Amino acid sequence: MRKLLVTGAAGFIGANFAHYWLRQHPQDRVVVLDALTYAGNIETLKPLMGKPNFRFVKGNICNTELVELLLREEGIDTLVHFAAESHVDRSISGPDAFIETNIIGTHSLLKAARAVWLADPANPLPHRFHHVSTDEVYGTLSLNDPAFTEETAYAPNSPYSASKAASDHLVRAYLHTYGLQVTTSNCSNNYGYYHFPEKLIPLCLTNILDAKPLPIYGDGKQIRDWLFVEDHCRGIELVLDKGVVGETYNIGGVNEWQNIDIVNLLCELVDGEFAADPTLAERFPASPCARGESAHSLITYVTDRAGHDRRYAVGTDKIRAELGYVPQETFESGIAKTIKWYLANEAWWRPLQQG
Ligand code: NAD
Repeated sequence: MRKLLVTGAAGFIGANFAHYWLRQHPQDRVVVLDALTYAGNIETLKPLMGKPNFRFVKGNICNTELVELLLREEGIDTLVHFAAESHVDRSISGPDAFIETNIIGTHSLLKAARAVWLADPANPLPHRFHHVSTDEVYGTLSLNDPAFTEETAYAPNSPYSASKAASDHLVRAYLHTYGLQVTTSNCSNNYGYYHFPEKLIPLCLTNILDAKPLPIYGDGKQIRDWLFVEDHCRGIELVLDKGVVGETYNIGGVNEWQNIDIVNLLCELVDGEFAADPTLAERFPASPCARGESAHSLITYVTDRAGHDRRYAVGTDKIRAELGYVPQETFESGIAKTIKWYLANEAWWRPLQQG
């Protein structure tokens, strides 16, 4: 039985992880620490709130004393660290919060973990510190470059990816310097349930329903690899169960798409949902789909993001070969589930969009 402290689990991936973990490991205890920034939504965790083996604590990862207290009082043996400022555009307009949470906050967790788990370095408590990071730390690729591997040199280009790169290095240093039992995973773009509607896929889905523009940066030909969020959670579970301490594992879908192609696909699929279900036109009367028109008319090209990376592609040979990782969703099945979820859960995303 594990006792997990999961940071940032009122956000997109952490929340999916908390739900996933308690479904897969109902005997384990999950304590969530989240500051509930604009990206954190307590509603997402409501289904877990009554469970005796679940606890939510509102607090900041930069509060080292609070983290130490939780590690001690809950007897935590596994810390899974998702909490971050995660939106690249926000890191361009206001990098300070990214430095504070992603770098100082990660260091605060490492300090707390060291203080509690390695209080007697000759006799450490059983523990694991798993750090959740991004493939964006590796920088950008040209069209014909091979995908990033775990050996690719770090070359972050945005304040977001630079702050995540710094946190990855700190995690590594706490193993080599102090013996903290760490693992890191670097994942590609996630999509799925509970995704804040500022990110490409949920933004487009909700904008189609409200007849708002679907903004495409530059020529729209930037390439990203996409992975269904529960397949990311499965990858982290494997790293916790079978991963080697000190190792880094890339996680991804081997599923590269140009942004414009993703948006076109979303338009086609939502058009199809409206054609198949007449009640959608009643629920979302503003949408062009409600009048039988295609959502494609909403596509709007806008000035490219400053320093926009052209392509990310992440090789997953290591986690597949060493840990037996296989994503369970295809892109077709994952995106279909995601669209149906946003159509069915307006009560979740509408208040966020208005906020
Ligand atoms: P998110 O923005 O949806 O959620 C972040 C959560 O962290 C929120 O609940 C927020 O309230 C919380 N938080 C922020 N600052 C905090 C602080 N100082 N103290 C405590 N809690 C704080 O992010 P996400 O998309 O779920 O990403 C989670 C992690 O996964 C991040 O570390 C991100 O870098 C990484 N990642 C994300 C993706 C992706 O596609 N979204 C891909 C690869 C890696």
